[in-house]
Amino acid sequence: MSSPTASLAVPDATRPEVRAFLSGSPQLFIDGEMVDPISGKTIPVLDPATGRVIATAAAAGIEDVDRAVSAARRAMEWGAPWRRMTAPDRGRIIERFARLVEAHSEEIADLEVLDGGKVRRAALSVDIPLAIRHLEYFAGWSGKIEGNTIPVSIPDTMVRTEREPVGVVAQIVPWNYPLLMSIWKIAPALAAGCAIILKPAENTPLTGLRLGQLAFEAGLPKGVLNVLTGYGAEAGEALVDHPGVDKVAFTGSTEVGKRIAARAASQVKRVTLELGGKSPNIVFADSPVEVSAKGASDAIFFNAGQACAAGSRLYIEKGVFDDVISQMSEIAQSLAIGHGMERSTQLGPLISQRQHERVRGYIDGALDMGATAVTGGSARPASANPEGYFVAPTILTNVNDSFAAVREEIFGPVVVAQPFENLEEIAQRANNSPYGLAAGIWTKDITRANRLANMLQAGTVYINMYGATDAAAPFGGYKQSGYGRDMGHANLESYLETKTIWTNLA
Ligand code: NAD
Repeated sequence: MSSPTASLAVPDATRPEVRAFLSGSPQLFIDGEMVDPISGKTIPVLDPATGRVIATAAAAGIEDVDRAVSAARRAMEWGAPWRRMTAPDRGRIIERFARLVEAHSEEIADLEVLDGGKVRRAALSVDIPLAIRHLEYFAGWSGKIEGNTIPVSIPDTMVRTEREPVGVVAQIVPWNYPLLMSIWKIAPALAAGCAIILKPAENTPLTGLRLGQLAFEAGLPKGVLNVLTGYGAEAGEALVDHPGVDKVAFTGSTEVGKRIAARAASQVKRVTLELGGKSPNIVFADSPVEVSAKGASDAIFFNAGQACAAGSRLYIEKGVFDDVISQMSEIAQSLAIGHGMERSTQLGPLISQRQHERVRGYIDGALDMGATAVTGGSARPASANPEGYFVAPTILTNVNDSFAAVREEIFGPVVVAQPFENLEEIAQRANNSPYGLAAGIWTKDITRANRLANMLQAGTVYINMYGATDAAAPFGGYKQSGYGRDMGHANLESYLETKTIWTNLA
């Protein structure tokens, strides 16, 4: 298959190895090698900061899914190298994978910017170190997965449990953190001894493909990690439906998550879902204004608001509402908007034209209903490339809970801010959402903060900080934000089965 990207529309600073990767033929990573897609179909890969095509990726079809699942099943066969490998040796490979991600940081950062619209500095200082830490954490778990001996009530009987890998897992990830979302899922599955078919989002196929190659270089046997770039409706659904897939781990929209859970139920597949959010961020009057204004701004503007846990519903205690909003407005206006490859850039574009229209639609809808844009709005920021999918950081006030912008996930740099009066009221309003992914509390009164933290229906509550994640700390949702947890020991559990073995000793 020949590439139409002979002259690449990428920034000058793009590394030579990245240019070479982009101009290669669009392929899939199956059974330890790059192969042409049987489907013959492709995906145009766009730079969201320019709207220009920078590469062409393969779009896996049903036959490609079948091929990848067969490779993964072979890798899981009794006696295959991956099944025979000791747990500490699995850990060593994951550790080597971490070192390779580290060694290729600059290259991975370019890939994250080019198809994901990320800010390169943020990729290097946040996404990549977190991904490495994640691999290291789960490398450590590999050799520590233990069963039990069980004291049953039947004499002369020994009962023990074995922890076994769940089998072949399909991991379907979104575009907002292509590297991190992939590594969050790959690392625990490898530690547990599973075989994987990773399906990156169609907008961001590049990082996942490169990860497949690096994991293989680290020593993974063939077929243990396969990467299928492709569309959700075709490759994604084929993976969910394939009888050779034992578990589906999904991160993405609540709408698609519900669909996946329903389809997987017909085969009683294991499913974990990390879905959307509309997380409340609650500022009390005793929190220093400069601290809460900075914290609330970072909570919504980081990654251009394209974060599932973004602090997108801001509640500020009445007495300090104007002060906090005024400082946030100054912060928003100071953010340098531009291409993520530029060193000065602090805020990049949204992922796609579709997302750009969606986010602007929420802003315009709120303004039509009487909201005030204290800063920002739906017009493209003047300083950014007019062809890119940029939205200025936007703060909307004079809103109420009937606004779509307050109820629904926007997934852009748009925060809706409302005043509140007391703790009971704010606990009730914060919980009044179908989502329950994260929440933030800003106050000097730690007793009050912890009381409110206990009242909130959210998988993660941040007190006087926001948005941190760590490989060791479970992360996931209450309510329609999903079930199961990424990270921590809880995540490892979701890739393991328990086998109970009885022996008659008489
Ligand atoms: P999406 O649900 O459209 O796509 C996510 C992934 O699912 C992509 O790989 C896509 O190709 C695939 N997909 C789409 N339709 C499918 C189908 N019918 N069957 C199987 N796979 C399918 O979501 P998105 O727009 O790419 O991502 C943004 C969403 O992800 C937001 O709602 C956000 O909150 C959520 N998210 C959640 C978390 C979390 O940890 N909870 C993290 C990041 C993003």
